[in-house]
Amino acid sequence: RGMLTLVPTPIGNLEDMTYRAVSVLQAADVIAAEDTRHTKKLCHAFEIQTPLISYHEHNMHTRGPELLERIRSGEHVALVSDAGTPAISDPGARLTQEAKAEQLTVTALPGANAALTALTASGLPTEAFLFAGFVSRQKKKRIEELEQWKPVQATLLFYESPHRVAAFLQAALEVYGTRRAVIAREMTKQYETIISGTIEELAAWSGDTEIRGECVVLIEGADDETAASLEPSAWWEELTPAAHA
Ligand code: SAM
Repeated sequence: RGMLTLVPTPIGNLEDMTYRAVSVLQAADVIAAEDTRHTKKLCHAFEIQTPLISYHEHNMHTRGPELLERIRSGEHVALVSDAGTPAISDPGARLTQEAKAEQLTVTALPGANAALTALTASGLPTEAFLFAGFVSRQKKKRIEELEQWKPVQATLLFYESPHRVAAFLQAALEVYGTRRAVIAREMTKQYETIISGTIEELAAWSGDTEIRGECVVLIEGADDETAASLEPSAWWEELTPAAHA
């Protein structure tokens, strides 16, 4: 029976590959990969001989239907991204939606993910969190996007490329003011660093230092007072009508 399996891969430390990820990739008929050259190395390390086919933002319109056809005809397609969990700020969400729309079987393996790894190590509240992924690179749009999360009483998680962390924190300072924040850098790698402070302190630090390596930026959620003083944005009311009834 054909199916799609989303398979997480390490975010920096090869030992984070799971036994199950290896056996699923070995057993699949084909591995759809964001970058086949990159995934080839992973396959080599774990003795996976399954054929690779590329599936990324630029070919998903043509490759997606091909992969769905293979699943329909009974093949097992495993999908991986360059690092971490497919479909989380990576290709995979669309193929999953398309497969589900056709009632094809989709399953996902648990595994490496930068946001959750950073959250658990951050020391910030974990009872409620909001994964915001990448915000816009345009200043005005970025501020608007940050504004919409301002009333949210949950730890906010952002992905940001290292050379934009300083600008991101400046914008966050403008929008959120005094809140605790954490930069989780190079998680699972040799130079893993977790830096905690106020947004202001981290903005000053990142302005002075050249940040290298991949980063997750976490920001404490709104306190009761801030949340009560702000109009929740329309999407939040739609999502949580009971909270505002
Ligand atoms: N799908 C991946 C996941 O599950 O985490 C995320 C892919 S996204 C294209 C890449 C972003 O994830 C980076 O810009 C960075 O924000 C974050 N990231 C990936 N690896 C990381 C690491 N080892 N340490 C910190 N952040 C990381």
